[in-house]
Amino acid sequence: MYTEIPEEIIDQVRKENDIVEVVQEYVQLKKQGRNYFGLCPFHEENSPSFSVTKEKQIFHCFGCGKGGNVITFLMEIETFTFIDAIQFLAERAEISIPKTRAKQSSMSEENQLLLSAYDWLTKFYHHILKYAEDGNAGRSYFEQRGITESTMNEFQLGFSSLNSDFTYKFLSQKGFHHQLLVKSGLLSPRGNNDFVDPFRGRVLFPIRNHLGRTVGFGARAMQGEEPKYLNSPEHALFRKGSILYNFDMAKNHIRKSQEVILFEGYMDVLAAHQAGIKNVVATLGTALTEHQARLLKRYVNTVIVCYDADDAGIHASYEAAQLLKKIGCDVKVAHVKENMDPDEYINAYGGAQFTQKVIEESNTYFTFLMNYRKKDYNFSIDSEKLAYINEMVELIAPIESSIEREYYVKEIADEFNLSREIVQNDVLQHRKKLNQYSKGNSSGNSHTNKNRYYHYNKQENILPAYRNAEKHLLAHMLKYPYILEKVQQKLGVDFNIDEHKIILTHLYALYEEKNEIDISELIGKLNDDTLKRIVTEIAITPTNNAISEQEINDYIQTIKREATDHTYLRTLKQKQKQEKNPILAAKIGLEIINIEKQLKR
Ligand SMILES: [Zn+2]
Repeated sequence: MYTEIPEEIIDQVRKENDIVEVVQEYVQLKKQGRNYFGLCPFHEENSPSFSVTKEKQIFHCFGCGKGGNVITFLMEIETFTFIDAIQFLAERAEISIPKTRAKQSSMSEENQLLLSAYDWLTKFYHHILKYAEDGNAGRSYFEQRGITESTMNEFQLGFSSLNSDFTYKFLSQKGFHHQLLVKSGLLSPRGNNDFVDPFRGRVLFPIRNHLGRTVGFGARAMQGEEPKYLNSPEHALFRKGSILYNFDMAKNHIRKSQEVILFEGYMDVLAAHQAGIKNVVATLGTALTEHQARLLKRYVNTVIVCYDADDAGIHASYEAAQLLKKIGCDVKVAHVKENMDPDEYINAYGGAQFTQKVIEESNTYFTFLMNYRKKDYNFSIDSEKLAYINEMVELIAPIESSIEREYYVKEIADEFNLSREIVQNDVLQHRKKLNQYSKGNSSGNSHTNKNRYYHYNKQENILPAYRNAEKHLLAHMLKYPYILEKVQQKLGVDFNIDEHKIILTHLYALYEEKNEIDISELIGKLNDDTLKRIVTEIAITPTNNAISEQEINDYIQTIKREATDHTYLRTLKQKQKQEKNPILAAKIGLEIINIEKQLKR
């Protein structure tokens, strides 16, 4: 169907890559009963409706309906072709695939060339930094900022020679066409058929995508040139708003430590990483985007924003914290003392003190907000003071936890020498108003996962009986071979819904071949997204393992009845058309209406 890769290898690849482990590289999962739940990476949501089942090796999202096996998951999330996904998983499980078969890739030839150019250039710049005389300036810059040799290697830091056509010559020798290089920002045109390296004379931070491939560079000036930081321009593989610096190396640490530290600068990441703090990422010189925020949220709940301590840094912290809070993260804001940048602080005091004095002493989101908002008020004027207190009351009121509310009430009361009761009263008044408002306007964030799930089941309940019967029967057939065999005997593929018929055909074939039911493999056989979705949706439906013979028979009867009624209906309609006697035709018409009514039930 898809490929020339032998079935056995595809099978092996599927079996040796546990779907829970693979998905966990993208989504933070929590075990609930037999399934794992997390935030769906395919649609935006604030409460988890994305589930993964270990025993069936499938995933399914109750929110957007996406579902499939480990291969489908990678195809979706990485926009891989089938071949790409197999290759990626084979590599992951250390299974070798015959080389000749591994050629086709989803990536356009141009993008593959681009990746290759970035690869070469990363090595080239790194080599200059480490070994060339031209690289001395870069090397001593990093050394001065406390970066060790092994960090330089790990992050493949580089330097671009001042010699302006060095890079062009190198890339041409490697066979890259200058058109591609200009388009992707690796070269700038200068006059007729002449090109220069836009990064010349700068130290370079390769920016890797989440798979660890360099897709861009961050370049820092050394002699006060403007701009201080210059990034590669965006191109097909490099979107600044969706990549976080060091995310590929940090993600496992983020998952383990259950929190992530978000920096503004590459140097902060390097310093922290070098000091043994590895759950660290940075934005790429731009404000945090919602895309980046959601990427973090899929991995972790707690985000510690740790930006520079100057005004610009504090303002940027505020923006980032607001955004993270909006999408449901637990946000903390670190304050680096003595007006230092994080990397300066780490260099001065070391990683342990940074963890204890900066990270562990981070402000809660609200405490940060309380301080941040002060700048807009002049506390020597009473009315301004009151306005500030009012603003705080409005901010405290919506907080759900009463302990948390109490805590902030105390802070405000103490700071302005008010009685706690008075502040508390104001907060409660405000809460009342909010409640009234939200009752009249229920479009708030009340859609919990539970609601959605019930909603999903409710919808199922109003489906016609035969459809329910087919779904339930299929769900049981996917789990219990004896039910599968029974249905095969009694009904064959005579379900009423076309999609179910196709699924049954594949299911029977697979069962005959392997004598077991492997849902993940079944999904692999279906080459239609709708079908895949239906199978995962059905497979994830809870089944009753104590289902009685009677119930199964009832389902079978419902399905048969529907089939017979439909056939009967067709005959009646035919008859009605041919009937010349108007009274008889009307009689048949009535019967048709009656049957249709019943079928709709
Ligand atoms: Zn979804």
